[in-house]
Amino acid sequence: MVRDPRYDILFEPVQIGPKRAPNRFYAVPHSSGMTNANPETRAAFRATKAEGGWGVVCTGACSIHPSADDRPFPNATLWDDADIRTHAVMTEAVHRHGALAGVELWHGGAFSMNRITRLPPLSPSGVPWLATHVPFMSQQRPKAMDASDIRDLIHWQSAAARRAEAAGFDIIYVYAGMGYLPHEFLLAEYNRRTDAYGGAMSNRVRLVRELIDATREATSGRAAVALRISLEELRKRPGVHGETEAHEAIEQLKGDPDLFDVKMDTSPTDCAASRYTPEGSHEPVVDFVKRITSKPVVGVGRFTSPDTMVSQIRRGILDLIGGARPSIADPFLPRKIAEGRGEEIRECIGCNMCIASWHDGVWVRCTQNPTAGEEHRRGWHPEKVKRDATGRVLVVGGGPAGLEAGLTLARRGFDVTIAEAREQFGGRLAFESRLPGLNAWHRVVDYRLGQLRAFNHVALYPASPLTAEDILNFGADHVVLATGARWLPDSFSPNEHPADAITGPGVMTPDDIAEGAAIEGPVVVFDFDDYYMGSAISEHMARRGLDVTYVTPAGFVSAWTINTNELPLIHRSLAHHAVVVRTLHFVSSFANGEVSLTHLFTGDQAALPCGALVVVGHRAPVNALYAELAARPRDVAAAGIASLAVTGDALAPGAIVHAVYNGHRTARELGIAPAQRIVRREA
Ligand code: ADP
Ligand code: SF4
Repeated sequence: MVRDPRYDILFEPVQIGPKRAPNRFYAVPHSSGMTNANPETRAAFRATKAEGGWGVVCTGACSIHPSADDRPFPNATLWDDADIRTHAVMTEAVHRHGALAGVELWHGGAFSMNRITRLPPLSPSGVPWLATHVPFMSQQRPKAMDASDIRDLIHWQSAAARRAEAAGFDIIYVYAGMGYLPHEFLLAEYNRRTDAYGGAMSNRVRLVRELIDATREATSGRAAVALRISLEELRKRPGVHGETEAHEAIEQLKGDPDLFDVKMDTSPTDCAASRYTPEGSHEPVVDFVKRITSKPVVGVGRFTSPDTMVSQIRRGILDLIGGARPSIADPFLPRKIAEGRGEEIRECIGCNMCIASWHDGVWVRCTQNPTAGEEHRRGWHPEKVKRDATGRVLVVGGGPAGLEAGLTLARRGFDVTIAEAREQFGGRLAFESRLPGLNAWHRVVDYRLGQLRAFNHVALYPASPLTAEDILNFGADHVVLATGARWLPDSFSPNEHPADAITGPGVMTPDDIAEGAAIEGPVVVFDFDDYYMGSAISEHMARRGLDVTYVTPAGFVSAWTINTNELPLIHRSLAHHAVVVRTLHFVSSFANGEVSLTHLFTGDQAALPCGALVVVGHRAPVNALYAELAARPRDVAAAGIASLAVTGDALAPGAIVHAVYNGHRTARELGIAPAQRIVRREA
C-alpha cells in the first residue's frame, strides 16, 4: 500500500542540535516500570517502538543521584558508572532500527521521598510538594538548598550526562516539569529564594540554564540537550496569547536547549484519560512556544490520527509528534501511516491502565496492546505472530478476550470461528462504551473486528448462543471459552468480607441495566468495585434525569481510579451532574422504598428514599459451559476436541486489560507444551 502524500510531512527529518531525527515521530520519555534490574526487558520494550518507526525513542525518568530516590516506584538510575551498561543495552537496541535514543535525566526534588536512601529531599525553599495520592504523600519535608547543594546538583547532572553519553544516548534531558526540582525553581510558590536563583523569572530560570549548560559541556556538544518543561501553572490562563510567566520562561530560555519538550504539570492533566479529555488537550497551554523559540518543539496529546498530527505541524504548534500512550498501544503506528495502513492502527483508548501499572510499581500494561512489556519475557511481538498452526478453533464469546484470542489464533494460522450470543460483538464493551465518556473504549472491539474481517479463514457468527451440544457437534479441534462474567448483587461487610446478596424488587446490577431493566428513581448506586463502573452508571442515570446518590465504603468515588488519573475528574463530573456522594458508608438493607446506610467506622445509620438500588460489587465468571464440557472428557475426546481452554473474564473477572491479555496468552500458548513456551527471567 502507498502512503497518502498528505502525511509526507510526518516523515521529514528534523535536526535536533547535533543530531538528526529521521522523522517527526518522537516516543517521549514515559515510565515503563522497568528499572536497571530489567535491562533486556526495557531494551526490548523501547526497541519495538524504534522498529515500528518512531524516529526518537526515550527512556523514562532516570535519577541522577541518590537524593532523588523514588523507590518503591520503579525508576532507572545513572548514579555511577556501574549503571552505564544497563542503559547501553537499550540504546544499542534502539540504534539497530535507525532511531535516536533519548534519556530523561531526573531529580525529583521535594517530590521524591528517598525512602531507601534516606537522604533529605531537596527543594528551592523547603516548601513541600502536596500530593493527593497516598503513596506519594510524605511525612518528610524537604530541605531548602543552599549554594553548595546547587553546585552539587549541577555536578550530578553533569556526571549523569557524561554517563548517558557513554551509554550511547543521543538526546539528554534536563527535566523541569511535573513539580520536580528544576520545575520548582521556576514556580514562585516553591521558589521563595532571595539569592540569584529566586525572585524575577530571569533568576528563576538560572538553575535550568545552568543544568542545560552543564549537560552540553559534559558531552562537549556531541549530544543534543532537551528541556522538558511543564507550562500549565506558569500559564494560568491557557489560550491567552498575552504575556504570562510561561511566555517569560520560554523567552528567557529560548536559545538554550536544542529541543523543547512541552507538557502539563500534573499526571491527571498531562496524561488525561479519554473519559473526560479529548485528543490534543495540551494545545491551549503549549501552543505559544513555537512562536517564541526557533528550536524544535515536541509535545503530546494522545495523538492517534495522522490528520491531527499533520494539523499540529502545519498550524505551528509542534515540530515533532510526541507519543507516550499511542506508542505503547501501537509501537508500529508510524510504520502503518508510512505504508498507507492507517486503518490498522491499534489506537490508544485513553483508559490509562498503563499509568496505573506505574502506580502499582510494575511493568507497563496496556489494554490495547497485550504484548507491551512482554517483548523480552515471553518473546511477544505486537505485529508478528509465528505462523505455526493448523486446525480449527471455535471461540465462544465475542468480547475483548474472545476477539483477541480469535485474532491471535488466526494469525497463527488456525481456522477460527467466533460465536457470540448477542447480536453485536464486543461483550461488556457493547454496553460500557455507551456510558458517558467511554466511547473511545470501543476501539478495543473495532480494531479487532477490523483485523478479523480481513482474514478469509475467520468466520464471525453474531446472535449465536452456543450450548455444550452445539460445541461438541461443531467439529472443532480446539475450543476456547471466552464467555465473560456477570455482576452479582452480593454485598460487603464492614470487615471487608463479601456478604450476602441484597435481594428484592428494585435491586439490580450493571448487567441488568445493560439489558434494559426498567429503572425508577431515586437511584442509589452502591459501589465497592471502586473502578469506573459505579461512577459511570451514576453519571449515566443522572444524565437521564434521575436523582442519584452514590454510596461507597471507600473514601473517594471510584477510589481505584486515583491510579488511572481519572479520580479528580470523576468527582468533578458527579458534582456537575448533581449526584449526591456518600463515602465511608455501605448499604445495610433495602426495603419498602428505602435503603439503610451504615457508616463504615461509627456504625451510625441513615435512611435514603430509593426506587432502584444498583449494586456494583463483585463479578463472577460465566463458566458453566466450561464446567459442563470439562466434566465430559469422553464426549469432548469423541468430538475430536484436542483442547478446551477458558480465558478472559470467564477465567478470572477483572479489568479489560486483563481479559485482552489472557485472551492473547491463551492463543499464543494453545497447542504449545509448557516446556516449549518462552518465559525469560531477568535477575
Ligand atoms: P471478556 O471480557 O472476557 O471478553 P465479556 O463479558 O466482555 O468477557 O464477553 C463475553 C461474551 O461472551 C459476551 O458477549 C457474551 O454474550 C458471550 N457469551 C457468553 N456465553 C455465550 C455462549 N454460550 N455462546 C456464545 N456467546 C456467549
Ligand atoms: Fe492507551 Fe490504555 Fe494502552 Fe495506556 S493502557 S496506552 S491509555 S490503551
